[in-house]
Amino acid sequence: MKRIFSGLKPTGHLTLGNYLGALRRWVETDQHQADALFCVVDLHALTMEHDPGRVRRLSRQTATLMLAAGLDPEQCTLFVQSHVDAHTRLSYLLECTATDGELRRMIQYKEKGERARAAGESVRLSLLTYPVLMAADILAYGTDEVPVGDDQTQHVQLTRDLATRFNQRYGHTFTVPRATHPVVAARVMDLQDPTSKMGKSHDSGAGIVYLLDEPDVVRKKVARAVTDSGREVRYDREASPGVANLLDILAACSGGNPEELAGVYESYGALKRDTAEAVVELLRPMRGRHAELAADTGFVDEVLRKGAERAREIARPRVDAAYAAIGL
Ligand code: ADP
Repeated sequence: MKRIFSGLKPTGHLTLGNYLGALRRWVETDQHQADALFCVVDLHALTMEHDPGRVRRLSRQTATLMLAAGLDPEQCTLFVQSHVDAHTRLSYLLECTATDGELRRMIQYKEKGERARAAGESVRLSLLTYPVLMAADILAYGTDEVPVGDDQTQHVQLTRDLATRFNQRYGHTFTVPRATHPVVAARVMDLQDPTSKMGKSHDSGAGIVYLLDEPDVVRKKVARAVTDSGREVRYDREASPGVANLLDILAACSGGNPEELAGVYESYGALKRDTAEAVVELLRPMRGRHAELAADTGFVDEVLRKGAERAREIARPRVDAAYAAIGL
């Protein structure tokens, strides 16, 4: 059976981008069609300045929301990265396979590094090396497919390069995985700045729809979304990124096609109204289920405990084999 691995960072509240880019497919298809592992990648939350208590709370909230969105612990393995030490054990071996040049080329390193410097913070070494830890997350499980939004393409490519290089040098050890992306809304953009992605750790919440936003908050955010000075609704990501983003979101929520939907609308107002309602309906069941699960902490703890146990069983033999292959 095909193996799938993917993760979410507990660096903020989950967004509509996380859902449409990744989580929705995990729920609707991946967990039913594959041996799927989904991870709250808390070690990745330590690469920037953080509050330890907040990381802990967000890890739990992220796992709870993953369940609320429909991940079924009977169908998939859900766990927290730091509960399974195979990830860090393997990461070091992969660091010995990677070069500093290829890590410095990572777009996210450049962007987040600049942000940290601009805020007067020093750049942590882990910000440079975390794509290697991500490669370890994926490779430890013999993963075939990594369902992610398209902002992760470069990191999955690095994972492929490291797996291939390790296999060539030390003998076949790792499956070389491939990234898969959703057809529509592979990159949901910020409603206030449609040239940058809707990211949960960005400072301003005005352009970001969070999965737990109340209906009226969603309506307000979508109503205030930046469009452009034209009037015609057309799907053009370059010339009219704000409108294209709304069309992508509406298409992803309603199962339509963004180009066709553009022909249906004569005003931005109507497009925004329908987009807001589609998002509200998409999120409604998740908010209800989240409230129920949040009240039952024992259940979530038990899911994560069992998930980590299973993840350890799968990862250990492959990481042991990598240690043996490299000469240790
Ligand atoms: P974030 O950037 O919100 O911190 P993560 O790094 O935790 O997100 O990514 C979790 C998953 O969500 C990844 O598969 C990523 O590709 C996807 N994702 C994140 N933001 C978006 C977005 N704006 N549009 C589509 N997918 C996204």
